[in-house]
Amino acid sequence: GGKTPQQAKVLKIGTDAAFAPFEFQDEKSKEYIGFDIDLIKAIGKQMGYEVKVQGMGFDGLIPALEAGQIDAAVSGMTITEERGKKVNFSKPYYTSGLSIVVKQDNAAIKEFKDLEGKRLAVQIGTTGANFAKKVKDAKVREFNTAPEAFLELKAGGVDAVINDLPVNEYYIAKTGSKDAKIVGKPLNSENYGIATAKKNTELAQKIDKALEDLKKSGEYDKIYEKWFGRKP
Ligand code: GLN
Repeated sequence: GGKTPQQAKVLKIGTDAAFAPFEFQDEKSKEYIGFDIDLIKAIGKQMGYEVKVQGMGFDGLIPALEAGQIDAAVSGMTITEERGKKVNFSKPYYTSGLSIVVKQDNAAIKEFKDLEGKRLAVQIGTTGANFAKKVKDAKVREFNTAPEAFLELKAGGVDAVINDLPVNEYYIAKTGSKDAKIVGKPLNSENYGIATAKKNTELAQKIDKALEDLKKSGEYDKIYEKWFGRKP
């Protein structure tokens, strides 16, 4: 307690802003934009907080939460048991999953079993990286960001990328990569959550409440439709 009315309540958000359409930088303004950014801004507003977004590497988000450098991580982060030991997660706010991306002219990889022994690119510290490491005899290369993994595919340095399906779809549809395609069924189902520090259970509860309110008011649906062009 003891807050004076002049003190603006600030919510410090960490994100890896290279994961369109969830978080990326506007080419001109360099501002952080995306589904996650709109969602956390709406959540902050609902809670009476001013949201400040800070960019960082994906694998730096949980350490930053643990060190108290940020209050929450909003970064297309999948809720996993492993991460749940280190941070709190909000209720799921988006259902995702992994998928395979190959070059348009690749006829050899059609589904998961074809990945055996292949060269794979993934983003470091992600569920896609964990998944790739389980593929028999595959040679896995980890990149700092998803776009770097896609670039390596384009350059022919790897045979496939394993990454979140909605991000793969956006990459192929929006960033003009006509030379890439998604193959096979989604590899799994994952839920994204907003991560907060383990000790900050009050914040986690407030976020869940705000998320629930935004779902009830229709605000969540509006943000979803803005970025995905359809209702959730
Ligand atoms: N959803 C994936 C994960 O949590 C990838 C997230 C990301 O790269 N921003 O590991």
